[in-house]
Amino acid sequence: MMEVIESVKEMQRRAEALRLAGHTLSLVPTMGFLHEGHLELMRVAKKHSDILIISIFVNPTQFGPTEDFQQYPRDPEGDLKKAEEVGVDIVFMPTAGQMYPPGSQTKVRVEKVTQHLCGLSRPGHFEGVTTVVAKLFNITKPHIAVFGQKDYQQLTVISRMVMDLDMDIEIIGVPTVREPDGLAMSSRNSYLSPEQRRSALCLKESLELAEKMVMEGERNCAVVKQAIEALIRSRPFTRIDYVSLCHPVTLEEVDAFGEETLLALAVKVGETRLIDNTLIRRPGK
Ligand code: AMP
Repeated sequence: MMEVIESVKEMQRRAEALRLAGHTLSLVPTMGFLHEGHLELMRVAKKHSDILIISIFVNPTQFGPTEDFQQYPRDPEGDLKKAEEVGVDIVFMPTAGQMYPPGSQTKVRVEKVTQHLCGLSRPGHFEGVTTVVAKLFNITKPHIAVFGQKDYQQLTVISRMVMDLDMDIEIIGVPTVREPDGLAMSSRNSYLSPEQRRSALCLKESLELAEKMVMEGERNCAVVKQAIEALIRSRPFTRIDYVSLCHPVTLEEVDAFGEETLLALAVKVGETRLIDNTLIRRPGK
């Protein structure tokens, strides 16, 4: 039977008991409204552990004041059903009051890799993420934690935090799960109207366009970036937040395609902010 735990103290007691009994614990943190991308993370986590814990918590501190915290889609009943089907052992579902009791004032901040991409357009976002993930690690005590490559920068930031703070947790990244037409799955896709949904395909098409240009010999990032921007601008409802070609570890912008270059995009389609990314490999010389 899947357990649902709401209290921080109870989750800690349960996790400690499971560890003492010799189990290997994995954690998949989510904000709920679960889709196939989340479920894939859970399947991977299950393969690496014998107790699978997921958290469902729409974390207020990672949303900016004008962002969609209030509207963020929620479906706790549907989520529990999906989690049970995939074989989750424990769902940790705290209230905001449990996670941020009055008086709490400590934050975790990762410095350099948060100064690019989404870190620029969403000030404070990653501080909210690292703080809540550090807390979730302390509450659920996992040996392994699984994150999606769809949020490439988030995975980078969390891996850095774990290294820098000597957290004894193995971080595993899982490739982006897509809809049949290529749109990266996201809880936010539910905001899109049918016309916007069609425009949203320009993210995936941008990744493919860049891969094709590099495959055909283009090495100048500015040229590829320009082509992508033109493609995105040609679609209705779109507004570019950023198109970045950057180093896959430091996330610093690069001028020429190296052995591996990260293409990361953030585009607003109507009011919905979507992100996508791919690692582009330069073909052998
Ligand atoms: P979220 O609920 O959006 O905070 O996402 C929870 C976890 O699921 C994060 O590690 C995300 O990177 C991951 N995730 C979200 N969408 C996808 C996707 N389409 N493919 C793979 N992982 C995903």
